[in-house]
Amino acid sequence: MKVAEWKRAAVERLAVAGVEGAHLEAQLLAAHALGVDRTWLLAHPEAEMNVLAGEVLLQRRERREPLAYILGRREFYGRDFIVREGVLVPRQETEVLVDVALRFLDSRQLERPRVLDLGTGSGCIAVTLKLERPHADVTAIDISQKALDIAEQNAEQLRADVRLLLSHGFSEIEDQKFDLIVSNPPYIPTNEPLMPEVADYEPSEALYGGEDGLDMYRMLGHEAPAHLRIGGGLAVEVGAGQAQQVADVVRDEDLDLAEVVRDFSGIERVLLFLRK
Ligand code: GLN
Repeated sequence: MKVAEWKRAAVERLAVAGVEGAHLEAQLLAAHALGVDRTWLLAHPEAEMNVLAGEVLLQRRERREPLAYILGRREFYGRDFIVREGVLVPRQETEVLVDVALRFLDSRQLERPRVLDLGTGSGCIAVTLKLERPHADVTAIDISQKALDIAEQNAEQLRADVRLLLSHGFSEIEDQKFDLIVSNPPYIPTNEPLMPEVADYEPSEALYGGEDGLDMYRMLGHEAPAHLRIGGGLAVEVGAGQAQQVADVVRDEDLDLAEVVRDFSGIERVLLFLRK
């Protein structure tokens, strides 16, 4: 069977399964089954499809497993990250958090800024920050050993010298202080309905932030100030519509809200606080 023919049938099956963007996904699955990239496939429409391999991938996607887990990778900030079950799939809006962090580091002009990524998951934020600003000293922590294993693979694969640590919140950080703490914490309210890709496959400890979704921000508001140098920054991603509430639970006598940054959809997505 030619690839083009396989793709036509695959597009239909994916659409029936409720997958959006079925055309692009069928193409990516075909390319993955053949071990080639999409560009090669586009240039070789007459290629023979590996039907068996394609069928296995297609069935996984029909069950709404995230495409990124099936392909084993997701692009973030221009680099390919290894992802699989056990870590949150990096999201495009999280690139805004990286931008805010980079701008903060540039404005501080420190010789060796100390950066902490709390809840690193795949390591996408920590690794990107280290590669974009090699002079930074980057520590990444997570509550999940499985996530840290994947973050370590990413750090190795992309040659980013990042310190990785298993830690429940700041439990293993003790009295260390940082110039910048970044976090894309779990912020979904427990009862919020989610797409099957997210609800059925992504790790719940990476998604849910308690009844109102704000538990991790409360923790950060309490504990981050003790781990920030004076003038240091706390940059967090927030869920759609959460900016005001997060500002209220984090801001206190030690932390000022300095910036609210919108993502490409116009949603207030990243908050930067400064340690007084
Ligand atoms: N820091 C990772 C990311 O932004 C994981 C975040 C999380 O698991 N909540 O993708």
